[in-house]
Amino acid sequence: MEESTSRVPFWRSLQMKFALTYLAIVAVVLAVLNTYPLLRSQDSVFHSKATALQGQASVISSALAGAEGLSREGAQLVMEVLGDTGLSRVLVTDPAGLVLYDSSTASGSVGRYALLGEVAAALRGNDTFRSDFVDGAFHSRAALPVTYRGMTLGAVYVDDYDAEQGAMLLGVQQTLRSISLVISFVAVALGVLFSRVLSVRLNELLGAIRVVREGEYSHRVNLSGRDELKEMAQEFNALTDRLQATEEVRRRFVSDASHELKTPLAAIRLLTDSILQTDTMDPDTVREFVGDIGTEAGRLQRITEKLLTLTRLDAQAPVEPGAVDVSQVARRVEHMLQPVAQVGEVELHLELEEGLQVWCTADDLYQILYNLMENGVKYNRPGGWVRLTTRREGEEARLLVEDVGVGIPAEDLDRIFDRFYRVDKARSRAAGGTGLGLSIVRDTARRYGGTVEAQGQSQGTLFTVTLPLWREGGAG
Ligand code: ADP
Repeated sequence: MEESTSRVPFWRSLQMKFALTYLAIVAVVLAVLNTYPLLRSQDSVFHSKATALQGQASVISSALAGAEGLSREGAQLVMEVLGDTGLSRVLVTDPAGLVLYDSSTASGSVGRYALLGEVAAALRGNDTFRSDFVDGAFHSRAALPVTYRGMTLGAVYVDDYDAEQGAMLLGVQQTLRSISLVISFVAVALGVLFSRVLSVRLNELLGAIRVVREGEYSHRVNLSGRDELKEMAQEFNALTDRLQATEEVRRRFVSDASHELKTPLAAIRLLTDSILQTDTMDPDTVREFVGDIGTEAGRLQRITEKLLTLTRLDAQAPVEPGAVDVSQVARRVEHMLQPVAQVGEVELHLELEEGLQVWCTADDLYQILYNLMENGVKYNRPGGWVRLTTRREGEEARLLVEDVGVGIPAEDLDRIFDRFYRVDKARSRAAGGTGLGLSIVRDTARRYGGTVEAQGQSQGTLFTVTLPLWREGGAG
């Protein structure tokens, strides 16, 4: 499936980066593992060789030192007394560097000058030591002067060739190499596996994003595991849920809106057609029809105005909210509604907690109170009343709009905030309603973090709005 594969070239893919980083780390670790322990053990062997060899040389040197000086016979005798030293070669020279004794008889060096740097240095009074690891063996040399009462009588040179320790070290090296090989193999296999799994899951998510982008909002992704990718997939699904819900609301809204606009338009069409097609229509009927056209046009105007208000709410009006005095706005609403209330023979009552300030804009608060109180008047009966009570409760303001009107059936209570929803279409229409007033109230209150709910009363309805109190320095 084309959609589930990534379009990023392989060499720039996360999988590649992940695998390379992983391999680089493994390579560094193996390089260190293959060099550091060996260097450390070589060092420690050199160290122990130095101690041992210099010790042996110094024992020989002390045995040789004596008042009578060094001679071939003397050296030979001392070496015989010392017995087997376990060394590959022991060489004794006089102060001039002439060889007096050489354990390696094959070399035939006795009587000749010892051409060894170590011997020369020892004759100058310096102790020397040197060790090399060559061809799998430790080759170590040490030389000391033979001194008696401050006089240099000659030099002792000892040589040790140790293939056993060398072989041990090579064995360790071999073992480390084998272990490294196994580790590299496992590391590469795991690296490839992990990066493959990672990229498969990433591609799954990527594929889902593309599918949803194409408009298929019902698509969900189901990733295995419990890591961040899984979390991302869950977030993505939640986001898609939201998208789907928004899309659903948008579709319903468009279809409801066009339906609502269609009804008055159809009525206008019908009325104009009747006027145009009836030649002998008496002026009174024409007047009546034109009046009806006016009424329908008024309805269209109200609907479009309210739709505009709603889209403004969706787009978040740029007016900055601030402190709004609830009582002031409430009095303005009462003043504006008074004429309508008088016509309907409904009384308006205000019970206000003075000084109550909410975090809102004056226009929005006006809209909320006006819509609720106007409904209270519209869906009332002659002799009824509408009461607005405001009070502070904890961190919020509570605005209660209560009426003793026709009431709302319990089953309609949670739908009346939907756009275009009307309990009694005929009554709402007669009262000039659009079915948008309460959804404007709800959207406005929510925008400030507030709420609105409706409750049936024994007679009439109680609407409760909560809004955050205004506080110095921001929202309540
Ligand atoms: P409308 O423009 O129709 O009044 P609203 O959104 O303001 O639209 O109200 C939705 C519906 O809720 C109304 O049509 C009405 O049926 C019902 N309603 C709202 N307020 C009241 C009330 N105070 N008493 C009885 N019914 C109400």
